Amino acid sequence: MDIILYLLQLIQYQQKQICWLLNFICRYIPLKQWAFDDSHSPKYQNFKVDKLPVIKTFIKQDWQFLFEYYQWKYGRPLKPVQRRNGKTIPKDTVCPLCGAPHHFIYDNNGSNGQFQCKVCGQTFRSGELVTTPSRLICPHCGNTLVAKKDRKFFRIHKCINPKCPYYLHNLSKVDSKDLKADFGKNKYKLHYIYREFTVDFFTMDLNSLPQNASSLKFSRHNAHVMFLCLTLHINLGLSLRKTSQALKDLYNISISHHQIANYCKTAAVCIKPFVDNYGYKTGSVFTAYETYIKVRGIKAYIWFIMDAASRSIIGYQVSDNRSVGPSSLPCV
Ligand SMILES: [Zn+2]
Ligand SMILES: [Zn+2]
Repeated sequence: MDIILYLLQLIQYQQKQICWLLNFICRYIPLKQWAFDDSHSPKYQNFKVDKLPVIKTFIKQDWQFLFEYYQWKYGRPLKPVQRRNGKTIPKDTVCPLCGAPHHFIYDNNGSNGQFQCKVCGQTFRSGELVTTPSRLICPHCGNTLVAKKDRKFFRIHKCINPKCPYYLHNLSKVDSKDLKADFGKNKYKLHYIYREFTVDFFTMDLNSLPQNASSLKFSRHNAHVMFLCLTLHINLGLSLRKTSQALKDLYNISISHHQIANYCKTAAVCIKPFVDNYGYKTGSVFTAYETYIKVRGIKAYIWFIMDAASRSIIGYQVSDNRSVGPSSLPCV
């Protein structure tokens, strides 16, 4: 009996030692990939996906209801603002959020045009209407985001709170020499930013076909010749002129390289809707790729989005510019 107790105690002691050693390793001996992992560098901040902001919709309040509520809750009515030194505010000042009259509105910064409502707490500037349908709130600190820049396809909202935990966390990772340099901090994305897209992605036309699609009514040749053209030109990769030559040499079919090009265009136009709308089974991980191609000697950009597991191309977009509109992929 004693030996079992002794062994149990020994096991418990050993387990304690193992836990202590594990803790020590985790704290002080970084694993190799952790030690050399630079993905925590603030330089990669631009590539990280931020959390979405909290969206608060504007709901008009009724100051009389809030007034009654105050009386019910505290057992005394809310007193009008006491103004010292005979100062007044314009009589037509009304709280834009709850509609409280000027008796309940503080002059917030000594006649510089900023006010605060005593009933609902809303701050506002004179003449400003709080009619924005929604407010965007920083998910890290709760401050209202400020619209900083208007781009063609989106508006940038930024959290400018200098005590925002997101900002302070990113700031702590910046190199000290960049911190000392003038505008050194501007190299990095440190503040929380949200892009509100103003382009409507759902109005994109996925199936607009080029107008120059020729019909499949054959006058000189037939469908079989067309398939031969496609096989030689696309499957075997012959040039248009070599395809024309091969058809002449192998089958004694005279067909110009212009005609072969037209057949290929027609086939592409016919097949495109089927390829675009094919219901590819998609996984949860996608990869995207941007490159450029030359279309008739003119540089154009092309984007692909691909399922990482099956490698099927589930979306693509071609454009002559790299702005946000074209680079947002309509996926099938
Ligand atoms: Zn108010
Ligand atoms: Zn913030």
